[in-house]
Amino acid sequence: MVAGNWKMNKTLQEGTELATAINDFFQSNPAEVEVILAPPYIHLADVARALSNVGLSAQNCASEPGGAYTGEVSAEMIRSAGAGYVILGHSERRTYFAEEDTLLFRKIKLALDAGLKPIFCCGEVLREREAGNHFNVVKDQVATALFGLTAEEMGQVIIAYEPVWAIGTGVTASPAQAQEMHAYIRKLIREKFGTVLAEDLTILYGGSCKPSNAGELFANPDVDGGLIGGASLDAGDFIAIVQSF
Ligand code: PEP
Repeated sequence: MVAGNWKMNKTLQEGTELATAINDFFQSNPAEVEVILAPPYIHLADVARALSNVGLSAQNCASEPGGAYTGEVSAEMIRSAGAGYVILGHSERRTYFAEEDTLLFRKIKLALDAGLKPIFCCGEVLREREAGNHFNVVKDQVATALFGLTAEEMGQVIIAYEPVWAIGTGVTASPAQAQEMHAYIRKLIREKFGTVLAEDLTILYGGSCKPSNAGELFANPDVDGGLIGGASLDAGDFIAIVQSF
């Protein structure tokens, strides 16, 4: 799976054009992986109409099912706009909007109840890696946000390992660092939910992934794809990353 997180970029017109270009390409050249676009909320319904063989994700959802929460967008609304996925726990949401894993557990449950597949992001900051604490940080995130799910629910979840020091910085984790953490995450899931579920789990890598480094990252046995930020804003780069799989 390769998912493009557009963050707060692109007007509605630009976003619809980008989605159309990517969709048209994969219509003529079917991808061997699942391709997903995650535009801003306001684009979802229009982008859904532009896509035929590419999946659609939101970048967030509310932590309440509905009601008097001005400015929020519920999981059910996202599903009704045509999306099948929602990114939850992105480091920018954790940093700028103080989202932590107990809140993310609630969002994940609501997403699943609405029929969305959560793409749950986890990852350590530089200080935590330098202190040798990165495995514990990721373990706590995964345990708090996911271990309260049933096995059936967990079977719908995708995990994205995104070391925060690699997001938007141009510095990427080495293929060995990515593999090591992905294998660790799969082990955590195996211990809690069993081997079959752990082997079926899709674990994406995210953090300064570009056409020039995607191939070596994706070649690792436990790296099942990528969550792409900056490079997903350009159709050519995003398509090249998908094709490097
Ligand atoms: C992201 O925001 O999920 C991401 C991986 O960003 P970038 O590719 O720009 O580092």
